[in-house]
Amino acid sequence: MAENKSVLVVGGGISGISVAVEAAEVGYQVHLVERNPYLGGRVAQLNKYFPKLCPPYCGLEINFRRIRPNPDIDVMTMSEVVKVEGNPGNFTVTVKTSPRYVNSNCTGCNKCAEACPAERSNDFNYGMDKTKAAYLPHVMSFPMRYVIDKSACPGGCGQACKDACKYDAVELDMQPETKTIKVGSIVYATGWKPYDMDKLSLLGEGKLNNVVSNVMMERLASPGGPTAGKILRPSDGKEVKNIGFVQCAGSRDENHLSQCSTICCMASIKQAFYVRDQYPDSKAEIFYIDLRTPGRYEKFLNRAEADENITFTKGKVAQVSEDPATGDVTVTLEDVFGGGKKHVTLDMLVLATGMEPELRGTAGSVAALSEEGFAVADLQKPGIFATGVAKAPVDVMTSIQDATGTALRAIQAIVRS
Ligand SMILES: Cc1cc2nc3c(=O)[nH]c(=O)nc-3n(C[C@H](O)[C@H](O)[C@H](O)COP(=O)(O)OP(=O)(O)OC[C@H]3O[C@@H](n4cnc5c(N)ncnc54)[C@H](O)[C@@H]3O)c2cc1C
Repeated sequence: MAENKSVLVVGGGISGISVAVEAAEVGYQVHLVERNPYLGGRVAQLNKYFPKLCPPYCGLEINFRRIRPNPDIDVMTMSEVVKVEGNPGNFTVTVKTSPRYVNSNCTGCNKCAEACPAERSNDFNYGMDKTKAAYLPHVMSFPMRYVIDKSACPGGCGQACKDACKYDAVELDMQPETKTIKVGSIVYATGWKPYDMDKLSLLGEGKLNNVVSNVMMERLASPGGPTAGKILRPSDGKEVKNIGFVQCAGSRDENHLSQCSTICCMASIKQAFYVRDQYPDSKAEIFYIDLRTPGRYEKFLNRAEADENITFTKGKVAQVSEDPATGDVTVTLEDVFGGGKKHVTLDMLVLATGMEPELRGTAGSVAALSEEGFAVADLQKPGIFATGVAKAPVDVMTSIQDATGTALRAIQAIVRS
């Protein structure tokens, strides 16, 4: 039997959370290391889940309720693994935690933010609005604890946040901490980041105001987003009643991401529904090369096809431009079924950018990565596994199923060592 019955999980998105609760609920101690100040990963930033179109916080909150009372799950936010040594059953891991400057006395009362005079770009909303330097990452944050972004703090504010906190929760002299932990197996659940729009030269290079990425669109439609859920275009706040979606924006392209991210067609159809539901007189057009909505997801596509105000046009978009006077966006493409060149003018355009894996360069991670940067399942090191989007571009349901299986493998590695 292994010397150590603990599992280290790197990444606290839906995949890492799922591994953690499954392993802890059968008696294994779990250290869950997340670099953000909150758990939930990219799912926390979605407005609704396809195919049911329910808010992602239903699913996340169910898991947080399993984490809260479980003494066997040690959650470390604002943390990263810096070193891994040892063998299955007996790994020694070094974890570095950045200072949050707010301790566990925090009640989430918002007084520190009210008193704070400085602002920072809101990374949770992909930079589309600002928060105070003392901020709550988002309204459903787990843990529900404020953070102070010291890089945004002005000199000479006289510690306004500290003075405003009657619970003595603000600790401006908090230091980074390094901790060594012993674990029997390790799971990497590091997920993905959105492919960078600035690299898409034919699609506006991220410079056109009214061309946004699909992850930004999730925030534009979300009640916690920069427009409180009203879908308004960035340049002038006009209601978006005529929207387009460019599929495979930087995906299935040797110059960018070679893989199909598998979820982008579903995500764009979902986002077309956001607009159609909000503005009954709106229209959405989806420009695609191939539509991929496999298995039961085909019904979701059928629902969109049944709406005469959602159209699907097959053709690769060759150019995107924005009229500086009106802010309108024009898309040029070769219309495969209609024939000839087509120009379509829209209020706003969404680029369906894919999921780029985050695993490369993570300390101590699995042995082999594919060309795209996903973990190659068969070549993982003994006792070290990857799961969720760290392994392949998949949806939430598949991530959770994979994570449950990976929890078992992590336990087996301990039992067999
Ligand atoms: C526009 C869009 C819409 C989508 N909509 C849906 C939908 O409606 N339904 C659906 O089923 N799927 C949807 N998806 C897919 C869904 O987002 C993924 O399936 C899901 O995020 C996978 O979860 P994960 O935990 O594997 O990765 P992530 O959500 O990326 O979580 C990974 C976590 O690991 C952390 N991390 C990364 N590196 C480190 C490190 N070195 N150290 C510590 N922590 C680290 C990250 O901060 C993050 O919290 C959508 C995707 C996109 C692009």
